[in-house]
Amino acid sequence: MRSVALSSNESLANLLKEERRFAPPAALAAAANVTADAYAAAKADRLGFWAEQARRLSWAKEPTETLDWSNPPFAKWFADGELNVAYNCVDRHVEAGLGDRVAIHFEGEPGDSRAITYAELKDEVSKAANALLELGVAKGDRVAIYLPMVPEAVVAMLACARIGAPHSVVFGGFSADAVASRVQDADAKLVITADGGYRRGKPSALKPAIDEALTQCPQVEHVLVVRRTGQETAWTEGRDVWWHEITERQSAEHAPEAHAAEHPLFILYTSGTTGKPKGILHTTGGYLTQASYTHNAVFDLKPETDVFWCTADIGWVTGHSYIVYGPLSNGATQVMYEGTPDTPHQGRFWEIVQKYGVTILYTAPTAIRTFMKWGDDIPAKFDLSSLRVLGSVGEPINPEAWVWYREHIGGGRTPIVDTWWQTETGAMMISPLPGVTETKPGSAQVPLPGISATVVDDEANEVPNGSGGYLVLTEPWPSMLRTIWGDDQRYLDTYWSRFEGRYFAGDGAKKDDDGDIWLLGRVDDVMLVSGHNISTTEVESALVSHPKVAEAAVVGATDSTTGQAIVAFVILRGTAQDSDELTAELRDHVGHVLGPIAKPKRILTVSELPKTRSGKIMRRLLRDVAENRAVGDVTTLADSTVMDLIQSKLPSAP
Ligand code: ATP
Ligand code: MG
Repeated sequence: MRSVALSSNESLANLLKEERRFAPPAALAAAANVTADAYAAAKADRLGFWAEQARRLSWAKEPTETLDWSNPPFAKWFADGELNVAYNCVDRHVEAGLGDRVAIHFEGEPGDSRAITYAELKDEVSKAANALLELGVAKGDRVAIYLPMVPEAVVAMLACARIGAPHSVVFGGFSADAVASRVQDADAKLVITADGGYRRGKPSALKPAIDEALTQCPQVEHVLVVRRTGQETAWTEGRDVWWHEITERQSAEHAPEAHAAEHPLFILYTSGTTGKPKGILHTTGGYLTQASYTHNAVFDLKPETDVFWCTADIGWVTGHSYIVYGPLSNGATQVMYEGTPDTPHQGRFWEIVQKYGVTILYTAPTAIRTFMKWGDDIPAKFDLSSLRVLGSVGEPINPEAWVWYREHIGGGRTPIVDTWWQTETGAMMISPLPGVTETKPGSAQVPLPGISATVVDDEANEVPNGSGGYLVLTEPWPSMLRTIWGDDQRYLDTYWSRFEGRYFAGDGAKKDDDGDIWLLGRVDDVMLVSGHNISTTEVESALVSHPKVAEAAVVGATDSTTGQAIVAFVILRGTAQDSDELTAELRDHVGHVLGPIAKPKRILTVSELPKTRSGKIMRRLLRDVAENRAVGDVTTLADSTVMDLIQSKLPSAP
């Protein structure tokens, strides 16, 4: 990892001044699940606070221990407790008389839909668990899941959890090679896939990637295949098994076994924005405690009346914690959507919100900026009045995008929770609470109750308010990763070696004058211009605050006079035209918002930006372009042709 050294008296950045404030709606605050006293209670007795949250779950054996930190940084939470995650997510709701409640409103891309109640989900999960057992999967065996966004993905994950077979979900858009390396690293015994899924209006095959990947993975004994599209599918006799055929003939009874709290629940490879993916290991009791607590607290979930919708893919940690484990452990009703936001039209998301009366929406800045680019008139055609809380995750959200989201989606009334967390943290860590926090556009603001985070300088000293540095987590938390699968040393090196005794998240951050935290992007992306550390996020937000700019990506390119020079790639809004005048106007605008030091040296207008499949801007590739180098590894890009397009825009490098 490239690490930027901060000279002792230089802050990482502290340029942006955002003065807008939004108080929580009075009615929401009055009935909020979590109130301000939670912070004080958790501060007074952090472990007691988490022990209390663990009691949200049904334990087969109640834990008497909370945290075992005797061998840091290898944590054990609730170690003598035992529970079954699938029981907590499904059976206990049915036993409580909620079997008829809809767990999942599934909306397929072609327009097919299915409502699945908790009682039905219980039967499906039990049958799938029995099917896995019949195929020889035992407790502790790893199962790889490579599925589109269909209910069987949820069922498959819960079936694995039920029998104690850790799952490794691989995003359905990854290539055969990416799948093979993940299946091998986890040493999976069985793979669950589908013939295909619907993507941009047509069936898109999935199984060929598995067939190709498995030529490199001889240990895989069976492939379970969900029939989704009905397309022609190659078949390996003896190895391949249709999901519907085997599950159909299973019993809907399966007694959930209690697993130890530290039994592995899943491995998830990080999305690969920065380099070789890491197999992040999460375990059972602590993970479910924090996924469940944060989903209830941060969205103020009222399971009797809310309709929750998280638009992430199940292949990312957001899909794990806020489609599967958080919402289902809380008995929520949620929407699950298979396809893309512009199929068959650019109002598809808003049509879904209107159709199901979605009350809580959780999506990513990349999607919000895209909706801004498509125009205000599109959401305006739909009734979005059911929405009451909006969430954001995945990247820093530019203040202008935040305000647009609140105005055009939230009708100017909904709180926005900007939630900072990572695959490694398992669940949300820093976020406003919708009934408590006066929100600031662009800031994740405060560590959640029971979470300890701060910002430090190069020497690990906490920075004063008004300064920037590195985001660190200072105390262990229940849903923390336990290690990198099979590589304890890499776990130590990556997260625990930079600052003694503290978890280094890899992100830059600043504390404002109130002590609220602002995320400034990855430390690897920070620019050093004439001795000043400048955050890519802040320059991008300044560009996006210009009415003609929809989206911006900024990198530092080596420069003989200033060390690094700021190079900006911008996508213009609607009808705006590229010209020398506009470029000059944008440079001046950034100078005006942030100060002359932050003015980009070059601005290039482009039609697309390189993004990972999870929708994050991949700045290292743009740095390659800006420095006139061969472009690095593009295998995790959603669309690798984007780089050719961008390079063709470049007349000559500096
Ligand atoms: P890799 O670690 O493989 O490079 P990744 O970091 O993109 O991939 P994730 O774990 O999905 O994989 O993403 C976590 C990162 O996303 C955080 O470290 C941070 O950089 C960014 N992020 C997530 N939520 C927010 C947020 N609300 N504000 C700012 N940044 C965020
Ligand atoms: Mg990361």
